[in-house]
Amino acid sequence: MVNRNYSLGQLFQIKSCTNCQTCAQVCPAVAGSLDGKLSAIYRITTLDRIVKARTAFWRKLFRIKEPTAEELRAFSDTVFRCTLCGNCRQVCPVGIDLTQLWHSARRDLVDSDAYPEKIDIIRENLDESHNVFGEDNEDRAEWVEDIPDAPEHGYIKDRADLIYFTGCVSSFFPMAQQIPMALVKIFDAARIDFTLLGEDEWCCGFPLLGAGLGGRLDGLISNNINAVRAKGATQVVFACPSCYRMWQEHYPCEFEVTHVTEFLSRLIKSGRLLLKELDLTVTYHDPCDLGRGSGEYDAPRDIIQSIPGVRFVEMSNNRERCSCCGGGGNLEMIDSKLSADIAANKMKEVKATGAQVVVTACQQCVRTMTTYAKRNKIPIEVMDITQLIHKALAGKDRPDSD
Ligand code: SF4
Ligand code: SF4
Repeated sequence: MVNRNYSLGQLFQIKSCTNCQTCAQVCPAVAGSLDGKLSAIYRITTLDRIVKARTAFWRKLFRIKEPTAEELRAFSDTVFRCTLCGNCRQVCPVGIDLTQLWHSARRDLVDSDAYPEKIDIIRENLDESHNVFGEDNEDRAEWVEDIPDAPEHGYIKDRADLIYFTGCVSSFFPMAQQIPMALVKIFDAARIDFTLLGEDEWCCGFPLLGAGLGGRLDGLISNNINAVRAKGATQVVFACPSCYRMWQEHYPCEFEVTHVTEFLSRLIKSGRLLLKELDLTVTYHDPCDLGRGSGEYDAPRDIIQSIPGVRFVEMSNNRERCSCCGGGGNLEMIDSKLSADIAANKMKEVKATGAQVVVTACQQCVRTMTTYAKRNKIPIEVMDITQLIHKALAGKDRPDSD
């Protein structure tokens, strides 16, 4: 066994941990499970031991043995029970890129055959169906049929300048399909010329990265790039922060890629979307991949505060320090109880604001928080920002706007 999944820089970073434990204090997996073995500090200490035990020089010097299959399985149990939320990386005072380290550790564990069985399901679904749920990919835009006055082309045109890349969760998961349904209506209201890719859209590849299968991205990436090229488009817009991040960081820079929060914020500022009054108190949850992952904190707040009548309140942990909803890192597939326990802590924070609605900008955050709120009869509405804007388009006219 070798340490080929870690760069030289990462091997140095592992050594630079000062054991300060700051990472453990902000980890949603630790708070949700009350298990210190899920913390970054426990994991980095274990990784240091494994890396040493795989190096002949250290083995001879300290008379240690190579890590056993059992040790690797125990390590896997902590590495895959993590939402990849990046909060540990955010607070680490010596600047260790912990999120990248967890990705490398997942690749290592897949190569070492010490990974959760569910990873095989992700791999098979993507190989066979090109979406993370193993659904028939021809049905990717089936949600359009639920829009009463959808145009005849079903939002799939031969050519358009702008592509709305829907993403697997919003395409196939009924609770999340409200997001694309709202967004196409917003585009219609602003007269945006856009198209969906329909069955030509394949998974962006983000779930493969989180599964430690980053070596299998090429086919997905080239399919999606060719599909966008075939429409003659120059821009791609995403409501999913993970697809957006994936295109920003792993796709060739051929098109302008924008998250919908930035796109809608621009439309509102330019006067192309007229929003009516909503009498609501709203708080905002920063999705990990949009906030810490892509640095977008202002656009969603600008949008919310541009709606007349809306009162905006922040959660105690917001922006760079926003706590995860429990939906990232494929955790829901691997340990659904831990994912729900993390969501419980998130909803406590939401409740403490006194808001009627928690708005976010991610279909997976919507799913995780809605599922928890419904199961536990918490009277707080969870909405994606597209749903909030859609509601404001139909909202009550203000007396002075007639
Ligand atoms: S990425 Fe998030 S869940 Fe994972 S160890 Fe860091 S803080 Fe904990
Ligand atoms: S915050 Fe950074 S330096 Fe401190 S224990 Fe965690 S990984 Fe080590």
